[in-house]
Amino acid sequence: MAKYDYDLFVIGAGSGGVRAGRLAAQLGKRVAVAEESKPGGTCVVRGCVPKKFLVYGAEFGGAIKDAQKYGWTVGKTSFDWRSLRDSIQAEVNRLSGIYATMLEKNGADLFKERAEIKDAHTVKLKDSGKTITAKTILIAVGGRPWMPDISGHEHAIMSDDAFLLDQLPERVLMIGGGYIACEFAGIFAGMDVEVTQVYRGGRLLNGFDAEVRDAVLDVQRNNGIDVRFNASPTEIKKTKGGYIVTFDNGTKIGTDLVFMATGRKPHTTGLGLENAGVKLADNGAIKVDKYSKTSVNNIYAVGDVTDRVNLTPVAIREGAAFVETVFKNNKTAYDHDNIASAVFTRPPIGVVGMTEHDARQKHGEALTVYTTSFRPMKNVLADKSQRCFMKLITVGEDEKVIGIHIVGDDSPEIIQALGICVKAGLTKTDFDETCAVHPTLAEEIVTLKPREPNKTTIVS
Ligand code: NDP
Repeated sequence: MAKYDYDLFVIGAGSGGVRAGRLAAQLGKRVAVAEESKPGGTCVVRGCVPKKFLVYGAEFGGAIKDAQKYGWTVGKTSFDWRSLRDSIQAEVNRLSGIYATMLEKNGADLFKERAEIKDAHTVKLKDSGKTITAKTILIAVGGRPWMPDISGHEHAIMSDDAFLLDQLPERVLMIGGGYIACEFAGIFAGMDVEVTQVYRGGRLLNGFDAEVRDAVLDVQRNNGIDVRFNASPTEIKKTKGGYIVTFDNGTKIGTDLVFMATGRKPHTTGLGLENAGVKLADNGAIKVDKYSKTSVNNIYAVGDVTDRVNLTPVAIREGAAFVETVFKNNKTAYDHDNIASAVFTRPPIGVVGMTEHDARQKHGEALTVYTTSFRPMKNVLADKSQRCFMKLITVGEDEKVIGIHIVGDDSPEIIQALGICVKAGLTKTDFDETCAVHPTLAEEIVTLKPREPNKTTIVS
């Protein structure tokens, strides 16, 4: 008779939890997974997947306009938000079903209810009241959007709500300058909504390379977004026709929808972690070692709940590394260096490796920086001023490439391949020896020239 009901109990059927649960079940382990919402987690249900569909939807508006410059006669067009929203939700439900099936087909039990920790080996299911024991517990509950507790904050929406809006507003006030704020500002602008984006700092996309941050401001403005800086909201008041938001610099802005994209927090509240002695960082993230082990020997955590690199593919890799370590006797720490990532503005951003600021802090004068900015061919006939920006950072005499930053069409697709080059430690010579694919945007990356010395930008 086994000592525990399961070998592994996973809390959260998102990207990390499902990968770990499935791999462990495939090894013949007795696995259970609990999920209080739809299987699939943030990525599938209220993040990457529905967001990317919205970006596709938003791009058609501009494409229709461009088509006319390419000889097409375009008749009367209109955009139906509910139609797109419902198609996306249908796809989300389909994918969520696949996640559930994937677990069950591999022999894992899926409990569609909330689970809370009672002690290091016991969880309690909230609805059924069942108590279940497991040798190992994996916490993969992700994060949740967060907003500051200002007066009238209940009138604002956050990213989770944006996918289910009843109707498209005429005006949106986007608060924040991060990933979600920039992406959703671009989505709404593409749907002909009047968008104002207000950021408390002086440059969008904190943490990105300074020149990328400047380029993304052009992107937003070229999409007709009214971007404003150095203002934080202090109050939201409901009016007859919408809302008035007051900022700490005295500005007041009227709008139909207030969208707070002010960050996400690990979803650890009420999980019962204290019952087992799992330690948290100040921001509520679960503290883990490089093998994703928490302060309790048999409890592990992966994904956004650990607030390491909050991206879907990272959670998946952490989940897989956890299975290697715990169930295959092969201690595996996922390497969080040089993770390529993208921001789906319009056009998007693709980055991998260090920013120039961080590279200078680490390597000083040993850097060589290559940049280019050009109007992509497609935009010339379309009569659009939007430029493409590229930057490549190398270090040392052999010019190892340690950072690549692109703002331009298809940059997420391009950066995936360039991520391999950076991870493999290739040099500028390797890039130079690679023949260009012509005519493409990506070919510029193998023909870059050093930036003029007086154009150094080291501010982050
Ligand atoms: P971010 O941390 O990227 O952005 C939050 C924004 O809100 C920042 O501009 C921040 O300002 C601002 N902010 C925070 N607190 C306040 C406040 N009290 N008043 C006014 N403004 C405030 O969070 P997101 O929610 O956009 O995204 C969360 C994470 O999710 C990302 O970091 C990323 O890891 C992931 N993500 C990834 C995507 C992708 O891969 N394409 C897409 C979406 C999310 P400041 O910069 O000054 O701190």
